[in-house]
Amino acid sequence: MNALLPALHREPFVGGRFVPAMGGGVEALVDPWTGTPLAEVALAGPVEVEAAIRTARRAFDACDWPHLPPVDRGAVLHRIAAGIKARQDQFAQIEAVNAGKPISGALREVEGAIRVFTYYAGAMDKVFGDTIPLGKDLLDFTLREPLGVVAQIVPWNFPLLGASWKLAPALASGCAAILKPAPLTPLSALLLAEVCREAGVPDGFLSVLPGGADVGRRLAEDPRIDGISFTGSTIVGAEVMRLASASIKRVALELGGKNAALVFADADMEKAAASAVGSGFGNAGQSCSARSRLLVERSALEPFARAFAAAAARLKTGMALDPATSLGPLISASHRDAVDRTVAQAREAGATLVTGGAMPEGDGFFYPATILSGVGPDNPAFSREIFGPVCSLTPFDSEAEAIALANDSEYGLNGSVWCRDIGRALRVARAMRTGMVAVNGLPSASKTSVFAPFGGYKRSGIGRELGLQALDFYCEIKNVTVDLT
Ligand code: NAD
Repeated sequence: MNALLPALHREPFVGGRFVPAMGGGVEALVDPWTGTPLAEVALAGPVEVEAAIRTARRAFDACDWPHLPPVDRGAVLHRIAAGIKARQDQFAQIEAVNAGKPISGALREVEGAIRVFTYYAGAMDKVFGDTIPLGKDLLDFTLREPLGVVAQIVPWNFPLLGASWKLAPALASGCAAILKPAPLTPLSALLLAEVCREAGVPDGFLSVLPGGADVGRRLAEDPRIDGISFTGSTIVGAEVMRLASASIKRVALELGGKNAALVFADADMEKAAASAVGSGFGNAGQSCSARSRLLVERSALEPFARAFAAAAARLKTGMALDPATSLGPLISASHRDAVDRTVAQAREAGATLVTGGAMPEGDGFFYPATILSGVGPDNPAFSREIFGPVCSLTPFDSEAEAIALANDSEYGLNGSVWCRDIGRALRVARAMRTGMVAVNGLPSASKTSVFAPFGGYKRSGIGRELGLQALDFYCEIKNVTVDLT
């Protein structure tokens, strides 16, 4: 076992304490950097799921926490942020070895988690109800009340950040949360549970259940749960929605993406190329936000491709804990093989390699930064979410064609426009059917995005995380009408 891990809890956290799991089986975690065993984690089974739901329901229905002044819950969230900060290096090292992240990216993720708890610590006393004018004899106002018991399911690509994006607004709102991390990456969520307990989250208001699809399905269909917030693939999101429908559960979905960056000929090519590397190859491309479709005005295709390949060549693959490493492995051997198959299919369909595309020898699950050119809308690399370090180049000849290509996707998560003509940039941004658009770049996501809503159109999801908008999911609105006569 990795030397970092013996002190960590590796069993479910149910309503305030870690419990020896019964019947959920064991997940053998593998270090993606080396392909060697990392640790074993006890998964939640039906007993732990039932206990978590029962405790959460009882806590929400009987305890004061949902009714406290928001600043009092905010104080607990501030302590959670401080608790994460105190263990910043431990969190980052866990993410590095469990999720295959270079330590620099893992540290940014931890900073993002601190920021999100700090943001929601101060948010709840700034959102309140409305008064609605109904005439002199009536007083009408709305109250925001916590939704209740919420289930939260997250994937393996940003384990700590994904959990924090959901837990912080849920706890701030007064909900009782049951978090299910992905079975491949449960360690940081279990450490986060410990931090939350130490910070004063009352018993029952947080459970963390490592587990797979069986645990997720139980949470989605249980009628005692009021809402489910899911991040993951579109196909599983659809199943979660179907399972939740019988109990008319509120559903929020953050799903896949096949995002486009539109590069016009007057753009700053160096800046656009550097951003394309960060977005397309950051986290080894395992990001719903990866802008993996580079749509480039034909006259700029060659210079942009050269700048993009040169920037990609500066990525460094090395040791997990080396601060200079910038490209890590993929999460598993099977995922790496699936990425490689899609690249082969893209080439069979006519794409050519600008760089990358050859699976390296060795034990870790590495795949090189890969750029494909000559990728038209019929090519699988244009339409399929590859979730690996693979980007494609597609030329366009007019603004209208650029917009049509960008919108030619079942997804609508985000996109970017690179263009010095601000009128054109804003026209294109408005025409893109995506939940987020960046014009001429995006500052480091972990620094700013916590303040702004995050989510997608079309099959990229329903609802928004982050910003004050995330609180809409975790709150009910009650309308009160008073007869003043
Ligand atoms: P996945 O859908 O396979 O799994 C996501 C989570 O759902 C995991 O915790 C998994 O255990 C659980 N799950 C699996 N089957 C389930 C079922 N039948 N019922 C309930 N839960 C179930 O996705 P993944 O492969 O872990 O993650 C990659 C996907 O996540 C990509 O499509 C990516 O775009 C998406 N993603 C989206 C966002 C976003 O914010 N839009 C962020 C990160 C990842």
